Amino acid sequence: MATATHEDVLARYEPVIGLEVHCQLLTKTKLFCGCLNRFGHEPNTNVCPVCLGLPGALPVLNRHAVTLAIRAALATQCTVQPTSIFERKNYFYPDLPKGYQISQYQRPLAKGGQIEIPSGDGLRPIRIERIHMEEDAGKLLHEGFAWSDEKSGVDLNRSGVPLIEIVSQPDLRSPGEAHDYLAALRSILVYAGVSDGNMEEGSLRCDANVSIRPRGREALGTRAEIKNLNSFRNVERAIAHEIRRQAAVLDSGTRIVQETRLWNAERAETVSMRSKEEAHDYRYFPEPDLPPLVVSDAWVAESRASLPELPAQKRSRFASEYQLPDYDAGVLTATRDVADYFEAVTGGCGNPKAASNWVMTEVLRKLKDDARTIAALPLKPARLAELIRLVDAGTISGKIAKEVFDRIWDSGEAPQAVVEREGLLQVSDTGSIEAMIAEVVAASPEQLATYKAGKASTLGWFVGQVMKKMGGRANPQLVNALVKKALES
Ligand code: ADP
Ligand code: MG
Ligand code: ZN
Repeated sequence: MATATHEDVLARYEPVIGLEVHCQLLTKTKLFCGCLNRFGHEPNTNVCPVCLGLPGALPVLNRHAVTLAIRAALATQCTVQPTSIFERKNYFYPDLPKGYQISQYQRPLAKGGQIEIPSGDGLRPIRIERIHMEEDAGKLLHEGFAWSDEKSGVDLNRSGVPLIEIVSQPDLRSPGEAHDYLAALRSILVYAGVSDGNMEEGSLRCDANVSIRPRGREALGTRAEIKNLNSFRNVERAIAHEIRRQAAVLDSGTRIVQETRLWNAERAETVSMRSKEEAHDYRYFPEPDLPPLVVSDAWVAESRASLPELPAQKRSRFASEYQLPDYDAGVLTATRDVADYFEAVTGGCGNPKAASNWVMTEVLRKLKDDARTIAALPLKPARLAELIRLVDAGTISGKIAKEVFDRIWDSGEAPQAVVEREGLLQVSDTGSIEAMIAEVVAASPEQLATYKAGKASTLGWFVGQVMKKMGGRANPQLVNALVKKALES
């Protein structure tokens, strides 16, 4: 197949993407039994007759799982349905002991929501079609065991873990938008206390439905569903690859077949898993062992009341309350931890813009190479606030503040103590600055001549020399004024 360039493909075709996101709920126990819902325990230690699918065992619905699912629905502006129905989704797979998964199909828990993603300077809504509840399957163990060469194992600790599936409308138009949607959704779910958001451990899993259509055409193209996307990076890469693949198929005059494809991260390609003809007929029917799930208005109201401030609300509050640009407000509210840290710094120094700059640049930069979370840093917000106050009071220069910051990052020491110990106080003493200026001017007749000849920018050079000779500790505004005075005289 001839391969067109990415730009060429996008000039002719518009990608259309819808995501199905599975999210494990942060409950203590499973959806229909009392077994622990925990990742990383010894295989098959959190199991019982219900989640092992033994004959005669009966499911009992976990009320807290429903509350979390309702919270997720409200946080994504969905309408919770007064009655939803659990159904059996029948298929055979070794990780599914009952031979069916209890899920919701015809009548899901919630419908018709939306979340917003960044778009240009503003935001763009992405519609959510539905959210339904279901139980997770177990997990096949293919590698890492002494017996792995001969056979695979089954771990049923995950069997029966509560999930919600969040299905978007096909509103996304690029791999980048799919990434942004997933990031926004994850942030909302983590804020709402519904999910830990951990994609590596599989608590958030994503399938991507991708199609392309000639630009200008309304009708949607035939889609492929891509499974096995276990990181943000892979979601983007797999969708980008799939768009190129479909364009090559259409360009060669062939039709796209509706199918399920599997992303292979090592080979960076999607491969066909099963076509529509081979698609399962799940033979859904209502679960006879569970009554319809009836959610009262009171239950919805209680769940709504238990929601904290969500990222979108926090972002607009940050923008208005602290007079921050939208971009800053977005970065600072991406996670609750960062937002809390920022607010504590601002509260301590009374300078939101400076607090925002420090958190967005220095703190987040250092955090990137740090295994610790922002909440576990030795450098507490109150200390960073003190550092900002030292700069604002003119006690130390901005340049020195960065040095002090680097030193207290790991120690969490009081910045004032470091400044005093290391003699980093800003020099605002006119006499010593003037003496240094005189020295520099005397040693630089050429630059002085250039300045006198009318090249005003030479002033900056003199300021730089003086600052350098004074170890960055001189008050820059003062140096600037005094150099100007000296050069004019
Ligand atoms: P299924 O049950 O087969 O997964 P759904 O109708 O529930 O099918 O759709 C699943 C996902 O596919 C949704 O996220 C939806 O937005 C998306 N989708 C539907 N049609 C298309 C299309 N033509 N192109 C891209 N995505 C699509
Ligand atoms: Mg699907
Ligand atoms: Zn169990």
